[in-house]
Amino acid sequence: MIVEMRRGATQNEINDVVERAKSLKLDVQLNLGTDKTVVAILGSNTGQLSTDIFAVLPGVESVTRIMKPYKLASREFKSKDTVVSVNDVEIGGKRIVVMAGPCAIESEEQLTEIARVIKESGALVLRGGAFKPRSSPFSFQGLKKTGLELLARANEQFGLPVITEIVDPGDVNLVSRYTNILQVGSRNMQNFTLLTNLGKTRRPVVLKRGFSCTVTEWMTAADYLLAEGNSQVILCERGIRAFEDSTRFSLDISSIPVIKKFSHLPIIVDPSHAAGHYSLVPALAKAAIAAGADGLLIEVHPNPKEALVDGLQSLTPSDFGRLMKELKSIATSIGRDI
Ligand code: PEP
Ligand code: MN
Repeated sequence: MIVEMRRGATQNEINDVVERAKSLKLDVQLNLGTDKTVVAILGSNTGQLSTDIFAVLPGVESVTRIMKPYKLASREFKSKDTVVSVNDVEIGGKRIVVMAGPCAIESEEQLTEIARVIKESGALVLRGGAFKPRSSPFSFQGLKKTGLELLARANEQFGLPVITEIVDPGDVNLVSRYTNILQVGSRNMQNFTLLTNLGKTRRPVVLKRGFSCTVTEWMTAADYLLAEGNSQVILCERGIRAFEDSTRFSLDISSIPVIKKFSHLPIIVDPSHAAGHYSLVPALAKAAIAAGADGLLIEVHPNPKEALVDGLQSLTPSDFGRLMKELKSIATSIGRDI
């Protein structure tokens, strides 16, 4: 249930709403907007309650039920776009944020070389996998803690915020110590223990869409992060499994305007894992920006032929540089910067 307070409602009036909810054993989340406050009343039995319980309280403008399963990620709870700040990089603002780097961190030389070239081309965030959730237990699983240390060193050397995937709910402190943004991979989108633990931090989280999940399930997963008080949530469309098999996954371009319509959260797109082939990545990246994505997550490798993971879908530094130039005119044409 969403309780919208009147413009200028007093703190006491807001407190009364919160107290009434608590007396009914319901949870509460506040969206303290600049001109008015919205109180989300959460709990499994709100459906049975009359909206009048809150509508009669002084200072209340309106009470509405959110019919969708997700609440805190919805525009009903927060109508203004969320902007996630990572140092001086803003995700969800006017500037499109490109995050780029290797699928897996392989060595200091590899990561340093990639950081240098992606920065030169205009990327604002360095990506690199240290814990790799591979389909086979016999595939390279990542450099783990050593990979995190290399990321932190690259962050210091190049001044680019860094993002990496976290797979173990017990690793939140470890991964947070070395990185700026924590990535929840597609296979873990519904790992609710991981989401709850990440929700307790105040670290920005990129929540990738589960490749078999609907937009509604994705936003409901985002609610797990938001419900714990972490508002720094960025969604990432990375392709879903459909009947089409000419690409690795099917990039759901529609999810971008759908998310923009129903949610206040920023959305970025990973064209690399959707495409599965380097030759298809630029077209998907351009389509994502044209459709309104707030950023991109792209795999780049200095020598894709030798990459330990996902070489086939990785761009070379020169392909990446060319793509960044091409994206500029698309960004400009829709009133955004890159
Ligand atoms: C990745 O970004 O390296 C990755 C494994 O992506 P996804 O979780 O989307 O498969
Ligand atoms: Mn990858």
